[in-house]
Formats: sequence, structure tokens, C-alpha cells
Amino acid sequence: MTDINLTAVLFEQNDLRMEDCPIPSPGPGQVLLEMKEVGICGSDVHYWTHGRIGDFVLEAPMVLGHEASAVVSKLGEGVTSLKVGDRVAIEPGVPCRRCNYCKTGRYNLCLDMKFCATPPYDGNLARFYVHDADFCFKLPDHVTFEEGALLEPLSVAVHATNRAGIKLGNTVLVCGAGPIGLVNILTAKAKGAAFVCVTDLDASRLEMAKKLGADFTVQVTSRDPLVTVQAIEEALGDKADVAIECSGAAPSLKTAIYATKSGGVVVLVGLGQEMVEMPVVNAGVREVDIRGIFRYVNCYPTALAMIASGKVDVKPLVTHRYKLEESIKAFEAAKRGEGIKIMISCDRKKQ
Ligand code: NAD
Repeated sequence: MTDINLTAVLFEQNDLRMEDCPIPSPGPGQVLLEMKEVGICGSDVHYWTHGRIGDFVLEAPMVLGHEASAVVSKLGEGVTSLKVGDRVAIEPGVPCRRCNYCKTGRYNLCLDMKFCATPPYDGNLARFYVHDADFCFKLPDHVTFEEGALLEPLSVAVHATNRAGIKLGNTVLVCGAGPIGLVNILTAKAKGAAFVCVTDLDASRLEMAKKLGADFTVQVTSRDPLVTVQAIEEALGDKADVAIECSGAAPSLKTAIYATKSGGVVVLVGLGQEMVEMPVVNAGVREVDIRGIFRYVNCYPTALAMIASGKVDVKPLVTHRYKLEESIKAFEAAKRGEGIKIMISCDRKKQ
């Protein structure tokens, strides 16, 4: 193998291979990127182990990876916003730009979205990758490539907390302390939440939540959501103004609704089973709004500003580091549930 463009290709369920692929050429409006850091997301692991997520089914080999940063190495025709050598974070979804969702500013809902490592579109866990220039965000010199890659999950939290409408002094419940719950803690705090209470089944994840600024943690030990609700209310002194559900677990969804004040908002970030039982009458008569989110929209600039200004520190999220050549080992560690965020370095100079 010459390792001209070493790439992590998922051929089919449970068949991830490191392949040497041709270096792609940037088309008009695109840039060729020399990849630097790529974080592993739960969805990458799920495609590897299940070959599908909901209606997105792996039908042909696909490159994994979508939480990424890079250096611009070649400009396609007409690109003026970037130059060779620029350090960038990559927003992984490029929408059609023409449909009503795109034109009205909700491009995350575009039906023709080309999103890295969502079938049939390739991701960017590789040495080289091509992306649309206007979905690359220039990183200031003091923002690291790992932070650049973490703009992706942080953008999910920016969108979730926007949809939650968090106001100065609010109390916020975050259910689930995986990477997505953790970035929601950081973002809720940065938006002025007075107190953030976090739930999880796992004590070590709650430890990390505390380290990142959670004021209270509640370990979920009962299958009865009302037991968890009582512990949350004891911690916060009342129900929460806003709940952000980041576990996808059905009992946690019930907890989120019951633990939110009348007139409050529950944001569904976690994606679990398609059909779940929910206390809709309780939510309805108490005017608890239940809002979904899908990825993010126009959130990369905000996420970058939060990191660049020091308002949030995502660095502690990275617990494990691997080289591109070791990607399969990295995915095995992610499958075992090790650590919080596993980062893969594609940088040959760091090898
Ligand atoms: P993760 O699996 O690492 O974290 C989930 C956490 O929830 C774990 O720590 C787990 O212990 C905890 N948990 C499980 N059951 C629980 C319960 N009953 N109560 C409280 N906590 C419980 O996943 P992640 O990477 O942090 O992502 C979280 C969720 O967000 C996933 O469902 C993912 O698919 C979803 N997600 C959604 C979007 C979107 O656009 N809506 C974007 C990114 C991720």
C-alpha cells in the first residue's frame, strides 16, 4: 500500500477496511482538504455495527467520519473565500441551496442534503477529501484542529439550546451525559443557565458532567421515571425551565416531560426507538412544548465564536487519540464504550 490517500471505508456491516483511494479533485466552488483530526461519532459506530440508521441504509461502500478539521491544499475554480494553507473546520452537510427549506434558512431540513458518512455520501476519515468551500470555516490560529473537529457536536448543542430558548437564569435539565449531553451542558451554561442538572445511568459520565460545569447530577437507578423526577426536583428545588433529552432512552423522555415546569420546553435531541410511549396529556395540559432538532443550521459560526472566545472549553471531551492507520482499533474502542470522544489524527506529520 502506498498510502497516497489512506481512507476508512465501510464496505458493509462489520466490514471496515483501510483502503488506499485516489486523491479527489475539487470541482467549481470546492476545495481539496488535507485532513487533520476526525472525531468518531456514535452514528459512525452504528453504521459499522448495524449497516443502517433508520431509513438510511448502507447499500454501497462508504467512507466514515464527519466530525472533522483540515488544511486547504488546493482550490477549485472560483473559490475566493479560502486560500491554500488555511486551517478549517468542515460543516459536513451540504444542502441543495434551492428548495424552500434552504431558501427560508432551514437548510438542515433539506431533502437533498449531502451529509458526510450518511449513505450514500462519503465521509472524510481519510488523508484527503473534497468539500464545498462555503461549508468550511476558517479557524483562528489559537483554535486547535481537535477543537475544530469538535465544532460538529458543539453545533448540535448550539441548535438544541437555540430551539430550547434558554434565557438568563433558567434552570436546565440535560438527560444523558454522552458527548452530546456534555456539549449541551457547556452551551446551556454559556447561554446563561443558572443551574444545570444532568442525569445518566453511568457514574463516570456524571463525573465528567460535573467537571464540565454541571451543578447537580442524578444517577438514574430506577426504571420508574418518577423516581428520577423526584431526585431532579430535589436538586433544582423545582422542576426545570427547560429539558434537553440527549439519551434517546424512552424512560428518559418521560422523565424530561415530567421534570419540566408548566409552560416550559422539552427538546428531543436523543434518537432512540421510532415509537415510544409519552405522557402527552401531561405535557399538553401543562403547555410543555416538545420540540425536535435535526443536526444544526447556521450554528458553526456561533460554535466557533464560543470556542475562540474561550466561552466554552471542549478540550476535556477528548479522552482517546489514535492515528488514521489505527482507525479500526479506534472504532473497536468506541464500540466498547471507552472514554468520551475518540479522535483520529489523519496528519501524516504527527504519525
Ligand atoms: P451516547 O450513547 O454516548 O450517550 C448517551 C448517554 O445517555 C449515555 O451516557 C447513557 O449512559 C445515557 N443514558 C442511557 N439511558 C439513560 C436514561 N434512561 N437516563 C439518562 N441517561 C441515559 O450518545 P451521544 O453521542 O451523546 O448522543 C446522544 C443522542 O443524541 C443519541 O441518541 C444520538 O443519536 C443523538 N443525536 C441526535 C442528533 C440530532 O440531530 N437530533 C445529533 C447528534 C446526536
